[in-house]
Amino acid sequence: MKKTHLIAGLLTWITLSNYLKLLEPRTLLLSVVATIFPDFDIKFKHRALFHNIFATLISTAIVFLYFGTLGAIFFALAYFSHLLLDSLTKAGVSILYPISKRRYGFRLFRNGSLFDKFLFLSFTVAFTLLFIKRFSSVKFTEFLKEILLP
Ligand SMILES: [Zn+2]
Repeated sequence: MKKTHLIAGLLTWITLSNYLKLLEPRTLLLSVVATIFPDFDIKFKHRALFHNIFATLISTAIVFLYFGTLGAIFFALAYFSHLLLDSLTKAGVSILYPISKRRYGFRLFRNGSLFDKFLFLSFTVAFTLLFIKRFSSVKFTEFLKEILLP
């Protein structure tokens, strides 16, 4: 599921970048962080501590303070993509933690199942197509310069 989360975050990023007609390296970084961050609770209260609406709101507020509205929007959507994907699995997520420990979700498939792999493949194809579309209208060297020379 880890790589499915990552590609879902990248897909969220490129979809929003296409919609807003922009391509900013910091929004890419924030999207990647947002898709990875929730699973840092794996050694504590997994799928609870960082897998709830309160953690989403607090971390998005912190991102807003440092990166502004645009950064917060990208971060929140990527974070939400993580919670949504986890809610599709059999384990579900404690979306209301710490108010309730109950796990909610659509519980459609297991981590690492064939459907998980299908999602990964579908997201990868969609991301690649949207990435090509976005970069066809932006100079790739300018984007690299922004990443490498902040
Ligand atoms: Zn997770």
